[in-house]
Amino acid sequence: MSNLPHQARTVIIGGGVIGCSIAYHLAREGRKDIVVLERSKLTSGTTWHAAGLVRRLRPSATLTKLINYSIDLYTELEVETGQATGWTQTGSLTLATNEDRLTNIKRQVSLGRAFGLEAEVVDAKRAKELWPLIEVDDVIGAVWSPADGRVNPSDVALALSKGAKSRGVQIFEDTRVTGLQKKARRISGVEVGEHVIEAEEVIVACGLWSREVAEMAGAHMPLYACEHFYMLTKPLEEVQALGKGAHLPTLNDQDAFLYARDDVEGLLVGSFEPHAKGISTKDLPADFSFDLLDEDWDALHADDGKRPEAHPGAGKGRSANAAERAGKFHAG
Ligand SMILES: Cc1cc2nc3c(=O)[nH]c(=O)nc-3n(C[C@H](O)[C@H](O)[C@H](O)COP(=O)(O)OP(=O)(O)OC[C@H]3O[C@@H](n4cnc5c(N)ncnc54)[C@H](O)[C@@H]3O)c2cc1C
Repeated sequence: MSNLPHQARTVIIGGGVIGCSIAYHLAREGRKDIVVLERSKLTSGTTWHAAGLVRRLRPSATLTKLINYSIDLYTELEVETGQATGWTQTGSLTLATNEDRLTNIKRQVSLGRAFGLEAEVVDAKRAKELWPLIEVDDVIGAVWSPADGRVNPSDVALALSKGAKSRGVQIFEDTRVTGLQKKARRISGVEVGEHVIEAEEVIVACGLWSREVAEMAGAHMPLYACEHFYMLTKPLEEVQALGKGAHLPTLNDQDAFLYARDDVEGLLVGSFEPHAKGISTKDLPADFSFDLLDEDWDALHADDGKRPEAHPGAGKGRSANAAERAGKFHAG
């Protein structure tokens, strides 16, 4: 604590991928006197176990531009900092099982083309060639986007923090902000226990804790985190057969509320929870760090009343009965 400064131009609260990215980008613009304060260790909130799927095709031009920028950055960061980001261009496959979805993903392809992105609408047969583990009886079309891929989110955050530090950003771990100070209705500093850092600007990048940190200044942040789940299967023969270093494209099946990618020798199958379940930070232990929420199979697949064991992979034939062979359950 004794190294903590008493003044800084900018204090960023939270050392997840967002806090690290803000620090990196401000420093890269030439801003000085930036401090990052992290309650536990960098990435210990949500970032450490994100699935890391990166998809360029998005419903809006702004999002597509942002993802394109991020992908270029992953490669630059690795060269600049020596810290790998885990960027792997696997391509992505997005399935449609109804006309509305097909129209939606075709629009994304048109938008992508406006940005020079290579993406094509394919039929069910080609989708099966690209992802042999899926059943495609109900698939009426898909989009294959070869430039998409995945990263290791912790490594991205660490690379960003390394790039930030090399430009003079000070990063303090095990440093919990306990209060925010105000003068004349403006934030004037942050409290770390008895220690105060006066600051011209304070950035709250605390992920699911952002709301409670903003409340320290009496501000209402209209953000409420929800539980999100994925599971990791045990090794599957079909994935092992791909061979070392080979990957499946990332898979999105929004009509079945799931996404998937290979993970080590099995699959990671995540849910786009149709009925999101809020998390109150008051229910989490104060030292929640590199932790997981409790398993909740109903929330994982609450859309159609089917048991999850029967669904991601089995019911609609996606992902080779992944859930039946589930090994681990991740939620955060
Ligand atoms: C299972 C799962 C899979 C996901 N998959 C994907 C994916 O494929 N693609 C994708 O883009 N996103 C994915 N996400 C979402 C992604 O993980 C998050 O959007 C991202 O990690 C949020 O980063 P953050 O920096 O905002 O929050 P966090 O990583 O939670 O960081 C916030 C930090 O603030 C710190 N903090 C909190 N309170 C204080 C305090 N008082 N003082 C100091 N520090 C404090 C915390 O310790 C924490 O480290 C996934 C999420 C989950 C749970």
